[in-house]
Amino acid sequence: MAFEKMKIKKITCIGAGYVGGPTMAVIAQKCPEIKVTVVDSNKKKIEDWNGPLEDLPVFEPGLSEIINKTRNKNLFFSEDVKKAIVESEMIFIAVNTPTKTTGEGAGMACDLKYVIKCAEMISKYSKSNKIIVEKSTLPVRTAETIKRVLDKYSDNIHFEVLSNPEFLAEGTAIQDLYKSDRVLIGSEQTLSGKKAADKLVSIYEKWIPSEKILRSNVWSSELSKLASNAFLAQRISSINSLSALCEKTGADIDEVSQAIGFDHRIGPYFLKVSPGFGGSCFQKDILNLVYLCRHYGLEEVADYWHGVVKINDYQRDRIVKTIYNYSTTNKLEKKISILGWAFKKNTNDSRESSSIYVAFNLLKLNYEINVYDPRVESERIIYDLILLGVNKSKIKEKINIVNSLDKIISLDYPIAIMTEWEEFFDLEKLSNLKILDFRNILSKNNVKYRF
Ligand code: ADP
Repeated sequence: MAFEKMKIKKITCIGAGYVGGPTMAVIAQKCPEIKVTVVDSNKKKIEDWNGPLEDLPVFEPGLSEIINKTRNKNLFFSEDVKKAIVESEMIFIAVNTPTKTTGEGAGMACDLKYVIKCAEMISKYSKSNKIIVEKSTLPVRTAETIKRVLDKYSDNIHFEVLSNPEFLAEGTAIQDLYKSDRVLIGSEQTLSGKKAADKLVSIYEKWIPSEKILRSNVWSSELSKLASNAFLAQRISSINSLSALCEKTGADIDEVSQAIGFDHRIGPYFLKVSPGFGGSCFQKDILNLVYLCRHYGLEEVADYWHGVVKINDYQRDRIVKTIYNYSTTNKLEKKISILGWAFKKNTNDSRESSSIYVAFNLLKLNYEINVYDPRVESERIIYDLILLGVNKSKIKEKINIVNSLDKIISLDYPIAIMTEWEEFFDLEKLSNLKILDFRNILSKNNVKYRF
């Protein structure tokens, strides 16, 4: 069936994570006439998506309400990947694309093995033409690879590959999906590619004004996603680099940040000093961009963007040094309470969170650490440290995970606020405590903390 005649009645999304789950929930809510099935190879994850609303695998404000309204009506979570592929006209690929750990490009390039696995499954199981949508963030020209794999096992089946990068921010995912600044759809510039893009446009048009739906070629779309994240991360590294200078010179980073942000060409967002960016995207995407630039022999461009990641590491190291200096100059035991493990507020995602790196380095200095986060589960906190190579006995000996703010405060250790959860700014509770508040105070002149 040619794409212009294709009617989208069933959509499948492979990958029920932070991108796939919320995005499909919103599509199901806005398009009640379409059956949306989200599949994942992780059985437990699917069980959790089908389980109690309080324990969904992803925490996002507003998400459980949408799941409550749509689940088992036109939104389904399933392990049966084959069935979902066979029956749908449009398939989103929203699987993880971690940084490669071995082989060419290790530590920099994106590992496409999960994406390729999806393309292989689609190729093997499909019995009719399909539109394949790249949702995962992918290096430029990945669509070419996907297309090659798709065509490998299937005869006489036409696949159109679209790039539709996700721009949602964790913590505000639902609002971002409802009111996207823009939706970007990249397609091949052939008649068939454009017709396939029309189908995806008509889905988003249910709730996004058409002037905010941008079309482009596939490569522009793929690169725009990497570039957007690189620009956002660059702002964080820029302000954090200046926080170090403020501490030396007597300038106040909050005042500097406000003054910069009032310039409408710069704007106020992403200019708050912090312990550094985390999350699954920024570092990964920039390294990916750096790798791409090096691949094309653009060493200067690669070095420029690599600096953004280096400043992030530098800021994390500065925090460790600050805590250490505080303990030694005040002749205190090596003890600290870390408030916040998620990489930012309103999410249970801790991937690449600065808290992990700070805790890891403090453990090397033999610190005893209490940790509290309102949403990140204790198993995840332990897993994050194990991933960095901390052994279980060290974790048992030195890490104490606490399940409430009151409890961690009662332990009376110096406190490092690492995530901007609103409950941490309950000044009544915290006013008499020893706090190293890196969101606000790290960068103050001469590092005067609130004790
Ligand atoms: P993101 O933040 O990009 O959404 P996540 O790691 O939260 O990333 O989600 C990706 C999901 O994709 C995981 O739940 C993982 O189990 C799933 N996944 C990876 N590969 C496959 C595959 N071949 N088939 C089905 N699901 C997969």
